[in-house]
Amino acid sequence: LPPLLRVQDLRKEFSSGGGWLGGAPRVVRAVDRVSFDVRAGETLGVVGESGCGKTTLGRMVLRLLEATSGKVEFDGTDLGGLDAARMRAMRRNMQIIFQDPFGALNPRMTVGELIVEPLVIHGVGTPASRQARLDELLDLVGLAPYHAARFAHEFSGGQRQRICIARALALNPRFIVCDEAASALDVSIQAQILNLLQDLKQSLGLTYLFISHDLGVIRHISDRVMVMYLGQVVEMGSKHQIFDAPSHPYTAALLRASPSRNRGKTRFAAIKGDLPSPANPPPGCRFHTRCPLAQPVCRTTPPPLMPVEAPGQFAACHFPGSDRASLDPGKTVGA
Ligand code: SF4
Repeated sequence: LPPLLRVQDLRKEFSSGGGWLGGAPRVVRAVDRVSFDVRAGETLGVVGESGCGKTTLGRMVLRLLEATSGKVEFDGTDLGGLDAARMRAMRRNMQIIFQDPFGALNPRMTVGELIVEPLVIHGVGTPASRQARLDELLDLVGLAPYHAARFAHEFSGGQRQRICIARALALNPRFIVCDEAASALDVSIQAQILNLLQDLKQSLGLTYLFISHDLGVIRHISDRVMVMYLGQVVEMGSKHQIFDAPSHPYTAALLRASPSRNRGKTRFAAIKGDLPSPANPPPGCRFHTRCPLAQPVCRTTPPPLMPVEAPGQFAACHFPGSDRASLDPGKTVGA
């Protein structure tokens, strides 16, 4: 089967002006030559520290932000070739759920109006059929029918995210970008929203691009995982490959630094050094300034994303797999 979403060589450059101190304007490559596929029915998790380009990537996939270059195909259609009207029609199939359920909802509209608004905008159905769809959507996301007459500010963060999910589902999309969809919520509520998204994926046959900085969330929800660092993909593989046998030292470092691996320890295994500025990324391998295994070649030659020994796993490293031993429990490397 061809993939539902195919992204090829996607790139986004922003130019940051000289600023109030003067100086030459710089080009920031927020996303740099990113390619991947998402198969129908799977969840591809995208993980990395803030500033790695994952949110920019999610918006470019839906053309909410225009790419500088590269190609996005959805179900065989090149989105770059669509005019505004055809892109709007295509968006019925492709939706996004944002991190902030507080900012995403118009405070002057009732919950019912918010949820059916996409149907009104796209001219779908009659008032009676929209009412029936509203009842269905409220039920799907676990909200009672009487909630439709209330306003979003009367709800808790978790319930507001349920409203956002109902609104995203209104047009029966096949593909949803979840951009830190549970990150602003308390941990117990976060689990409810993640479980709801899992259930909806099963019952409605959805496909997700799931963006999060949280490895625990990514592990819970993803089938495959893509790890990003400074605008580039550094590793890609199945959930088990990424979490149990990572090939890229950055993935290994992220895992070492994750709170679940540090439980019971007095000090966190932090990734050494600061995240370099995306406006001035290091030459060669972009991770070399923080990598415990960096060699002279890493400082000069960028490593391409290449298959590693396990099928379906790719890493952009001159020495893939070398940092795996550092994940042995009890060993502390690069801390
Ligand atoms: Fe580290 Fe070199 Fe691999 Fe980059 S290429 S991750 S610096 S070992």
